[in-house]
Amino acid sequence: MPVKRRTPDPDREPTTSVPAGALESFAATVRGAVLAPGDEAYEEARRVWNGMIDRRPAVIVRCSGVADVVAAVGFAREEGLSLAVRGGGHNVAGTAVCDDGLVVDLSAMTGVHVDPDAQTVRAEGGATLGDVDRETQLFGLATPLGVVSKTGIAGLTLNGGLGHLRRQFGLSCDNLVSAEVVTAAGEVLTASAAEHPDLFWALQGGGGNFGVVTSFEFACHEVGPEVSGLFVLHAADHATEVFQLLREFAADAPEEAAVIPFLGFVPELEAVPPEQWGDPMVAVLGCHLDPGDAGAAVLEPFREVGTPIADLSGPMAYTDLQSMLDEDYPDGLNYYWKATYLDDLDDELVDLLVERWRASPSTLSTVDVWQLGGAIADRPQDASAFWHRDRSYLLTFEANWEDPADTDANVAWARESIDAVRRLAGAVGGYGNFPGFHEDPSQTLFGDNLDRLVAVKTRYDPENLFRLNQNVQPRTDASH
Ligand code: FAD
Repeated sequence: MPVKRRTPDPDREPTTSVPAGALESFAATVRGAVLAPGDEAYEEARRVWNGMIDRRPAVIVRCSGVADVVAAVGFAREEGLSLAVRGGGHNVAGTAVCDDGLVVDLSAMTGVHVDPDAQTVRAEGGATLGDVDRETQLFGLATPLGVVSKTGIAGLTLNGGLGHLRRQFGLSCDNLVSAEVVTAAGEVLTASAAEHPDLFWALQGGGGNFGVVTSFEFACHEVGPEVSGLFVLHAADHATEVFQLLREFAADAPEEAAVIPFLGFVPELEAVPPEQWGDPMVAVLGCHLDPGDAGAAVLEPFREVGTPIADLSGPMAYTDLQSMLDEDYPDGLNYYWKATYLDDLDDELVDLLVERWRASPSTLSTVDVWQLGGAIADRPQDASAFWHRDRSYLLTFEANWEDPADTDANVAWARESIDAVRRLAGAVGGYGNFPGFHEDPSQTLFGDNLDRLVAVKTRYDPENLFRLNQNVQPRTDASH
């Protein structure tokens, strides 16, 4: 039940950025909830997945539809407020919320509709991966999304989108057919290959720079209901062996298969005796689209590296694979994730990864290597805004920790690790879905596509209203 503004609260913290009268008038034009400090639902609504983020927006507009989004964007523009856009609220940078500004909160817009004949799905901008997979799997279909069901499709897609289907069907953004966008001027546009193709190009990897995407239409593919899932945990002594195996595997792996080896510590799984919980491990998560013996055989070598601590691999429902890691990323823990791409995984690099992992201040943290290639690399680099599609791997340092007192040490660990890797040849770029706090220059993400993104930004958001993201700055008059 939406909490409509508002019961005056004597304890309400003053909001300096929005005149009360203006807020009242605006709230009357909106169908969803308009929340300000002091409102009952405000405290919960300002929280995002990353517990490190503690921002206090002046107003949160929990939009019920496109008209609310148009109203919210117009209000932010008129009042000169910073504007944040919340899809699933799961980006580690926490840019779904802002201090003192307005949040366009899409968390109530989660509708999903599948067209089985056209093999497409349309999902609203607040939908999660789980929302979409649930509906598409009803028809034996899926569109490539990420590997944790609670994350939002919006941020994921706008910044690329890597999941189990990536090597067979490409990035999430590669499967975008069209998007409905509310621009900074408050126009509602459809972007597709045929309509506003420049905007459509930019939405495929250019982040949240160009407007509020109120719905995404994706191409679907026949997937499941079962696939061959791989999730095997080995003792950490096998770390080097697993990465060497990845190198050999990647050289000629079929596109139907994709794996993510990672270094971490044994989670509290029922399948593992408690005395082994917390032990250092190298694990491999992966998928082959064929649930039968042929699919399993492709993944088998990763299971045969020594005697596993636990092996949860086997034929499984695609939706089970998609939610297998959900429990490992609880809301409200502290997170700082940063990534870079790799051309190769030579022995020097593998040694460095193991060394950096051993230096991690938290046993919840992981070092992950995503196998890329396949359909991701099949598209030219300038076919969409997503630039780093020619790389072999994505390396992520995921710092995850409980005690806020440990924040500095954990953030420093991830940053120093990335810096150390980037000093080696063949380690380049960054990924907008694992962006740290956006410290890297935009060129790091967008490479040679940056100039074209600037042109699109200048056309659709000349005042840089949508700037709480990996920002692409519009040209100013002087720089035209
Ligand atoms: P939000 O935090 O809501 O938004 C992030 C930014 O995106 C916003 O600041 C805004 O700039 C923009 N934005 C959001 N919604 C809209 C919109 N509707 N219109 C315009 N701009 C918008 N990534 C992968 O590639 N593969 C994975 O398997 C994967 N697994 C993950 C698992 C976990 C547990 C988590 C937390 C993240 C994972 N990620 C993965 C990263 C994830 O894709 C990004 O964090 C992504 O940005 C989350 O999207 P969101 O909508 O939840 O983000």
